Amino acid sequence: MTSKVKPIAIGIDLGTTYSCVAAWFDQHERVEIFCNEQGNKTTPSCIACTESELLVGEGAKNQITRNPTNTVYDVKRLIGGRFCDSQVQEEIKSLPFKVVKGCDDKPMILLEHRGINKEFSAEEISSLILKNLKMAAEAFLGALVTNAVITVPAYFSDKQRQATKDAGTLAGLNVLRLISEPTAAAIAYGLDKSADKNRPKEKNVLVFDLGGGTFDVSLLTICKEGNIKVKAVGGDTHLGGEDFDKAMVNYCVQEFKKKQNKDIGKNARAMGRLKVACEKAKRDLSSTAGTSIEIDSLYDGADFSMKITRAKFEELNAGFFKKCIEHVKNCLSDGNMHKNNVDDIVLVGGSTRIPKVQNMLMKFFDEKPLCKSINPDEAVAYGAAVLAANLSGYGNKVVRDLVLLDVTPLSLGTDLEGGIMSVLIPRNTPIPTFKEHIYITSKDNQKAIHIGVYQGESSNYMDNILLDEFSLHGIPPAPAGKEKVKVCFDIDADGILYVSAELLSNSNNKRSIAIARREQLFSHDDVEKMIRKVEL
Ligand code: AMP
Repeated sequence: MTSKVKPIAIGIDLGTTYSCVAAWFDQHERVEIFCNEQGNKTTPSCIACTESELLVGEGAKNQITRNPTNTVYDVKRLIGGRFCDSQVQEEIKSLPFKVVKGCDDKPMILLEHRGINKEFSAEEISSLILKNLKMAAEAFLGALVTNAVITVPAYFSDKQRQATKDAGTLAGLNVLRLISEPTAAAIAYGLDKSADKNRPKEKNVLVFDLGGGTFDVSLLTICKEGNIKVKAVGGDTHLGGEDFDKAMVNYCVQEFKKKQNKDIGKNARAMGRLKVACEKAKRDLSSTAGTSIEIDSLYDGADFSMKITRAKFEELNAGFFKKCIEHVKNCLSDGNMHKNNVDDIVLVGGSTRIPKVQNMLMKFFDEKPLCKSINPDEAVAYGAAVLAANLSGYGNKVVRDLVLLDVTPLSLGTDLEGGIMSVLIPRNTPIPTFKEHIYITSKDNQKAIHIGVYQGESSNYMDNILLDEFSLHGIPPAPAGKEKVKVCFDIDADGILYVSAELLSNSNNKRSIAIARREQLFSHDDVEKMIRKVEL
């Protein structure tokens, strides 16, 4: 009898600024984080087109100041968004590369190679990063890898999740599951504590995940048996280290103007150099009270030199830090939990190294010490790798016993009740879930019913995100209120939504919309096309 070796499935933390890939190894009884070609455990989520080649990761980041308009980063802040969204417009303003409006209002990134402009979607750019991580895992394992769990911010909308899944497909991955980043971190934390014999039966854990581009807060209960139950999630998909860098960059631009009477705001190369210097200064300020930014010949022959204190950095970002604490308060209130009942506060994401963030959080929790036992850069990929093993049917008992109960981050509903949002699935509902609602016709002899599917918290559906829309035709003539339509919302374990509508008087008249069936959107041909596009 031959024993079948299960293929290794990887866990990927696809971050805004850095990404990380890992897998569980049965023979070592632990997770291994795979290093990239340069030997680093995290890889910049960055790609670049040069005269001769396409660079991904470290190589792309290292040449950013020489090639700012053809180096792409931060696409996680664009993925699944619409070009016209005010948040997307806000992002575009500070990006040195060109973003244009594509089909279906999709933001498309314009890259130039040998005088030819090519447009890439955020999914396509992300797929290049995912492919690079897949290759790092394959180089380590000496075998092909196809199965993967990819992490997304807990607060990602359905569109952002679906776009991330599409990026995985384009990268040649079979995406076993999408998992929220703080939940992945909680798995890593839970596993870390599983060896502790004296731990209580149940623990309430708040995961505070402040990364490069997104902020997530999650309230979870971890049981001794391995169940992880998410109680509430909150956050902001446009808040993170990049905003702190931007605040410092803007301050430096003002200082340069004051000293040199020159405006560097429109010069992509100078702004790129300033951004790199500010990010470094920000990191320094996490361990020292003051540092300086020195850049030779920054613009028009003028040097830039400025001292900056930690206090000034904190002042520039006070609004952002305050926002983080507000989200923690809201998450606790959504989870119906008093802060005194939180047993552990777990820090994840590079920006949680900022002392002011830690101090504010500790103060809010009445000086409770924060858990820093898990590596904030690797915890998310670690948890994803554990889930990948669990879903693939290998791992030790702790891994195999893992049961995850996640929640939906934003309310889902329709526009079927006048101007108001008719919520079918309120936010923080455990998933998978299935909800249905019966709507009646509002007019005499109404022939069709139009259903808009919305996601968001405003009571006015127009202020929420329109995920998709469709019509159910063929309603027989009848007085208003006579014909009934059953609308079903079904969310799978990835947090992706399926919607259907059925005429109750004729069950053959049924339509489903393909919000999630878009899984088949990328055919083999599309993947080939995409590969050809990036073969420079
Ligand atoms: P992540 O998305 O978790 O990889 O976090 C990346 C973000 O963490 C970037 O914005 C980094 O600039 C930031 N970061 C990393 N180390 C530090 C540090 N020591 N102090 C402040 N921010 C940091």
